[in-house]
Amino acid sequence: MAAIASLCVFCGSQTGRNPAYAAVARSLGAALAERGITLVYGAGGIGLMGVVADAVLAGGGTAIGVIPEKLESLEVAHPGLTETVVTKDMFRRKRIMLDRADGFVILPGGYGTLDEFFEVLTWKQLGLLDKPIVVLDSEGYWGPLLDLLDQVSAEGFAPPATSGLATVVNSIDELFIALDNGEA
Ligand code: AMP
Repeated sequence: MAAIASLCVFCGSQTGRNPAYAAVARSLGAALAERGITLVYGAGGIGLMGVVADAVLAGGGTAIGVIPEKLESLEVAHPGLTETVVTKDMFRRKRIMLDRADGFVILPGGYGTLDEFFEVLTWKQLGLLDKPIVVLDSEGYWGPLLDLLDQVSAEGFAPPATSGLATVVNSIDELFIALDNGEA
């Protein structure tokens, strides 16, 4: 598989209660810049989304934001991105993010992040997408979700999400090891 040139980060438009979530978002942004990997994300200037983008830009990296026109003010579109793509609606936003990224990283987030995770997971399951999906399980935040996915699979409704569809890591080092070795 070709080297990863861009990663789409799905994460919260809020920062969450635990400051560790913002810390991991910041470290991920810095690591993307350092590795010359372009960030593709939802263009928000707030929450973990804003933290990742700020860290990419602070490190001299490239950040591409994709945002529907209706959300530009609600999610406080980041004013300093390398490129901002404004879409007519949420569906086109997601489509562009899926097309422009070589892989996906899921950080802690809310319902929107869950939606985005399940979108790429189900597309991959259906063979519509063949790109790595990595859940960065910071502070065990996604533990209950991973338990639910195990339950869904154990009860015969889906193949195991973590054997072939998505990879779970606990740190940024593990994330890049998985991507570099083509394990994700
Ligand atoms: P959240 O995790 O809810 O803070 O949202 C993270 C991002 O997901 C934000 O940019 C939201 O606009 C986006 N989002 C919210 N709902 C949806 C949805 N139904 N489909 C795709 N993205 C969404």
